[in-house]
Amino acid sequence: MKRVINFSAGPAAIPVEVLEQARDEMLDWQGTGCSVMEVSHRGKEYDALHHGAMDLFRELAGMGPEWKILFTTGGASTQFLMLPMNYLGAAGEGKQADYINTGNWSKAAIKEAKRFGAISFPANMEREGGAPNAIPKQAELKLNPAAEYLHYTTNNTIEGTEFHYTPDAKGKPLVADMSSDIFSRPMEFNKHSLIYAGAQKNLGPSGVTVVAIKEDFLAKAKEDLPTMMSYKVFNEHDSMFNTPPCFSIYILDLVLRWLKKNGGLEAMGRVNDAKQKALYSAIDGSSGYYSCPVAPGDRSWMNIVFKLPTPELDEKFIKEAKTAGIVQVKGYRTVGGIRLSAYNAVNLDAVKTTVQFMEEFRKKNG
Ligand code: PMP
Repeated sequence: MKRVINFSAGPAAIPVEVLEQARDEMLDWQGTGCSVMEVSHRGKEYDALHHGAMDLFRELAGMGPEWKILFTTGGASTQFLMLPMNYLGAAGEGKQADYINTGNWSKAAIKEAKRFGAISFPANMEREGGAPNAIPKQAELKLNPAAEYLHYTTNNTIEGTEFHYTPDAKGKPLVADMSSDIFSRPMEFNKHSLIYAGAQKNLGPSGVTVVAIKEDFLAKAKEDLPTMMSYKVFNEHDSMFNTPPCFSIYILDLVLRWLKKNGGLEAMGRVNDAKQKALYSAIDGSSGYYSCPVAPGDRSWMNIVFKLPTPELDEKFIKEAKTAGIVQVKGYRTVGGIRLSAYNAVNLDAVKTTVQFMEEFRKKNG
């Protein structure tokens, strides 16, 4: 068996200990003589797992009981529509929301939100001739006083930019798509009213999306919605109105336990900081051989994007990295170049090995 250094942007690497435990329990989970995939979601074993995972999520985030944790399906992409459906209603109602546009996934959220209301842009980082490569400063945000909420994307998976501050929504509910940096370090969750994240980067496998809503914001959600689109229904039924993605939630729970065992978000933040410093130092110390389009203050800790001097060298880098056991390093198709997605399960040793590979590649091909 071989394990590679896996920089996939998502679905992404999962801690080996988690995979090993899932393997060991595959045929007989908790003495049931069944896999977790084969037991009723109404049974006591699954129920304990389900609620335990919600509690552990709250604990790791430092969220109090006023936070309701939902497990939804359909990915973060479904949250792009569920959120405005719950808070804006139909387009004809004339409700408004603020969306900060920092790139591809913000735009995808905006596209859906426009179906439900009028969308305003406190900041729009689109630019001519390339992907957005910066994060707006607080002072630049032009908030719409009539907006129901302010939505932003904490980390831009494709562009390699990340908010290193929490936007001040001036008393309005703050909503964040945290899909690609959730639990990578301590964050000011409590300044938000709703956060959501597809699990398949830092939290586990695809198939489950975590939505955390503060109860005062939940109270304002619309009532008369299609059942599976209603935050209130999810909450009232503990995310078990229908059959939840049990196996994904099981792995999510194992990943959360792994996070706790390894020191929680503080410890994760220290490791991720060391990882990002090592990678960006390799880029910045390469005399321009590797170039990152993002200014230091706006750089993502999770998705490190850079280019080599030519597209041909990018290709060679990708190929030789694979031979060296370093995989899934190709940049997103609209952006090109290299992207290293160094989520929580990619450890510091893997990053050091990669930095060494980058230095050797540059010496040979510089
Ligand atoms: N938001 C962000 C920041 C993402 O990175 C992604 C997926 N890469 C999505 C949303 C879409 O997530 P999903 O595939 O879970 O719908």
